[in-house]
Amino acid sequence: MDASTADNIDDEALSGVLSIDLAALQSNYRMLADRVAPATCAAVVKADAYGLGADRVGPALASAGCRHFFVAHLVEAKRLKRHLPRDAKLYVLNGLMPGGESYAAANGIIPVINSLSQLSQWSAAAEQHGARLPAVLQFDTGMSRLGLSAADASVLAENRALLRNLDVQFLMSHLASADEHLNSQNVQQLAAMQAIAVNFPDAELCFANSGGIFLGAAFHGALVRPGIALYGGAPTDSLANPMKPVVRLSVRVIQTHTAPPGTLVGYGGSHHTQSEMRLATLAAGYADGLPRSLSDRGAAYALGQRLPIVGRVSMDSMTIDITSLPTDALQLGSLVELIGADQTLEDLARDAGTIAYEILTGLGHRYHRQYI
Ligand SMILES: *Cc1c(COP(=O)(O)O)cnc(C)c1O
Repeated sequence: MDASTADNIDDEALSGVLSIDLAALQSNYRMLADRVAPATCAAVVKADAYGLGADRVGPALASAGCRHFFVAHLVEAKRLKRHLPRDAKLYVLNGLMPGGESYAAANGIIPVINSLSQLSQWSAAAEQHGARLPAVLQFDTGMSRLGLSAADASVLAENRALLRNLDVQFLMSHLASADEHLNSQNVQQLAAMQAIAVNFPDAELCFANSGGIFLGAAFHGALVRPGIALYGGAPTDSLANPMKPVVRLSVRVIQTHTAPPGTLVGYGGSHHTQSEMRLATLAAGYADGLPRSLSDRGAAYALGQRLPIVGRVSMDSMTIDITSLPTDALQLGSLVELIGADQTLEDLARDAGTIAYEILTGLGHRYHRQYI
């Protein structure tokens, strides 16, 4: 980002500017929906739409045609519901805690059933409600995280009555290694899912996350559930990222100074200047989702120059080396880029030793948010 755009900062600007391109989000949705047709494309909007604001992301996706939304918790569904069209379906991936059933039943929220006890609770709720209730049945096909086991699947196949109060919308499972094209776990999980599905001939499959979509049509089932790809993250490690970037992050400069050789920079003096260096201190740190693991590793960018992070990332600030920039290129209030044209979300995540998901969901609320 141009270092001279400080005058664009809104008064509320704190650490910097987080811009979220809703048009790019919609374009990503349409691209995935076209790719998986005739299957339907849902959207995973858990964790406040991966940190980007479910109240803005949800309606934007709905106007791009999305009608199936997955969250992790019932309370997320509760909050999001009023921002979505009446015909949108909301699914709760983690399933319901005991006591959540009546709210979900009364509000048409669809739980993902992950155990036989959740199944019987939801079935009891249906009896109270006086009607069959919609449900998604999740099976654990090899991730050992959540879902009904293969043994539970046999119990259900042999005791159809267990499902009589439920309207099973989808059989679901989640891929553990979908971002790795060649990982044999993908086909093993698909085979396990198909073996279970044989016992439920009328039910449709909901299987693929972002990475799964790019594994091919065999993985699509009837409904796909992308998250990260909608938000511009790379769905797979083996393709150039085909998604449009949605997020840009610029952070403000709060001080510049010249450090003579032999200066110790930051907590613990982890950086020791070898020669005279120009430094800029930025107004964001690990409390703003820029992990401490970027200490002495990552970089910011301005005027196309890479500006390495020197010393440790603090809670509310960090220091970068701006020696390569013209003197006075950066001043109090200038913006430097952390995510944008010069550095992708994946680049930043890699330098931090993590993944795009963790960066996005950690960005927090001290940036001025600009929805485009
Ligand atoms: C988070 C999640 C998704 C979305 O995954 P992405 O990799 O972000 O596309 C899909 N399904 C389940 C069960 C999830 O937990």
